[in-house]
Amino acid sequence: MSKPLSVLVTGGAGYIGSHCCKALSEAGFHPVCYDNLSTGHRDFIKWGQFVSGDIRDTDRLRDTLRAHDVAAVMHFAAFSLVGESVADPQKYYLNNVVGTASLLQAMRDAGCSRFVLSSTGAVYGNAASRLISETDRCEPINPYGSSKWMIEQILSDFRRAYGFNSFCLRYFNASGADPSAVIGEFRDPETHLIPRAMMALQGYAPDFSIFGDDYDTPDGTAIRDYIHVTDLAAAHVLALGLLLDGHEGGSFNLGTGKGFSVREILAAIAAETGRPVPQAVKPRRPGDPAMLVADPQRAREVLKFEARHSDLPTIIRTAWAWHLRAHPARTSALA
Ligand code: UDP
Repeated sequence: MSKPLSVLVTGGAGYIGSHCCKALSEAGFHPVCYDNLSTGHRDFIKWGQFVSGDIRDTDRLRDTLRAHDVAAVMHFAAFSLVGESVADPQKYYLNNVVGTASLLQAMRDAGCSRFVLSSTGAVYGNAASRLISETDRCEPINPYGSSKWMIEQILSDFRRAYGFNSFCLRYFNASGADPSAVIGEFRDPETHLIPRAMMALQGYAPDFSIFGDDYDTPDGTAIRDYIHVTDLAAAHVLALGLLLDGHEGGSFNLGTGKGFSVREILAAIAAETGRPVPQAVKPRRPGDPAMLVADPQRAREVLKFEARHSDLPTIIRTAWAWHLRAHPARTSALA
């Protein structure tokens, strides 16, 4: 039997990176998780090997790529909070853009030229109120989105100049958790809708804040395209397969093509848990567009990607199972 191909997964101890390590391992690859554990979790590293390191440490990256004879890199290590990026853009440009440049340099030095980028629907900025396609203009409206868009542009120049092939996967709203409930969404501070609503339900906050109910949407709350993290991981493995076949890559939306409002998500959580989420309407959050929904066609055609776990009940059920484990309910606070 031949040795499994090694894939370096930067940020492999994070939410999406850890699910990708699992998917890689199940697909017969050897994931090498490279993470500085600044926001990742040691106990999420359950598949493959762990190398502790920072993406700005080019020497360590180069050594790691060579030592493990890495065939391709999946790059998740990044800061990803929109609000924080507005308050502290330097943190985002230094880590996300400069850090990625360091990784690309190490890869070229080590002769590795296959790359999958964890990108984001935030590259589109204030999108039109229709499905967003990859041919739409990228005009990010916050430093987080800008940092990812800059990386995509670097990758497109590298593709042309060096034959350095890359897939940029633009996720819409990553959600849900592995059905085993041993890995899932866990951040501190937590800013995302589904985990925050669940934490309010568990008594970790007095109520959940709906950021704006005066959007131009059917119920006034903002609409997003929620995609299950297991589906995201599967898309990465499909992109890797194409790279190994010599495909040059490109930019692809990963979404379902279906949007849900904040109130629809809260209703789905109430249906799953049997308890209404305590809630209060607050002003809009700066930088939040009314609606972000992907046109999933290109990923379907090229990656042969179909979202299989992204129906709302599955997303909420798996997220809730994980949350009960990660944040034991404060039943006294709920009483
Ligand atoms: N949202 C909200 N209250 C929260 C967190 C999020 O109303 O405590 C809304 C947010 O304004 C957006 C949607 O939920 O319209 C999804 O936000 P999230 O932060 O989960 O993802 P984003 O779309 O910003 O990447």
